[in-house]
Amino acid sequence: MEMKSPQSRIIGAVDIGGTKIAAGVVNDDGEVLASEECATEQDRGFASAANQIDRMLRNCAARTSTTIRGIGIGCTGPVYPLTGEIGDVEFLKTWKGANLVEALEARFGVRAALENDADAAALGEAFWGAGRDKAQMLFVTVGTGVGAGVVLDGQLYRGVDGSHPEMGHQVIDSTGPRCYCGARGCWEVLARGPAMTEWMEAQATGDTEDPHLSAKRICEMAAAGDGLARRAVEREAHYLGLGLANLVTIFCPEAIVLGGSVMLSANLFLDGIRQEIRQNCGLVPYERTEIRLAALGQHAALIGAARTWHHRFIEMGESSVIGS
Ligand SMILES: [Zn+2]
Repeated sequence: MEMKSPQSRIIGAVDIGGTKIAAGVVNDDGEVLASEECATEQDRGFASAANQIDRMLRNCAARTSTTIRGIGIGCTGPVYPLTGEIGDVEFLKTWKGANLVEALEARFGVRAALENDADAAALGEAFWGAGRDKAQMLFVTVGTGVGAGVVLDGQLYRGVDGSHPEMGHQVIDSTGPRCYCGARGCWEVLARGPAMTEWMEAQATGDTEDPHLSAKRICEMAAAGDGLARRAVEREAHYLGLGLANLVTIFCPEAIVLGGSVMLSANLFLDGIRQEIRQNCGLVPYERTEIRLAALGQHAALIGAARTWHHRFIEMGESSVIGS
């Protein structure tokens, strides 16, 4: 068995989503040594949430007898990674304008880095997961939403002022349903997990409605041969494939890594996705783009959050000393 370096640098990791906040401690090999989670409860406000994040991180460090040397944060967007501010997040309205990086740096006396959660997951997969050694790597997560991050030659791609490109909101069908982003028929509104459920419900006649219907349940039904569920899966593969084909045409990446809860049933979608890519990417060497599944498992979000610290203060070389 390989011995772990006793000098492994422990990073506190925080993942903030619409329903839960997870915190943990992660070593230099991208392993989560301990983690805890709590409900997001945005109504309680930012200060209370910051206190709870502080407590969870300290608990995890105490349980593992480790010292936190830095903090990495992944948060559902929009967030401002270069300043540490939380933007106007659909699920965190009361946090708008709060600075989570400053709050945690002041409490722990170490540097902290914040990224959009899809970018954080992309960094985790790029350096510790399925995207290792890939020069152009895209990560796409499909769950309650559709998010994506781009890592080119080991660097996270950013737009102007550090902005996160919202590939999940590229328009796929301008006559499609309206999304909260303002667009009609964007990729997310057509291909996120709940879109499968909505489509099934719209097809069902009143007496067959299933109150427990979910994307996961539909995938199970499709695998068991249910005709309508199989059509829902085909529809999902079609829309997922169209969005991915656009990414292949635009980036010609070496790999696209797929993660998120819907991709736990990826075997149902991959043939359809590949067919859309074949049909729609005629001008680029699409066959050179590997479609891979995420490799970091259930703690992917925390591992990615930790990696944001390494990326900011090791790969990108920003000073890891506070106040410099
Ligand atoms: Zn949208």
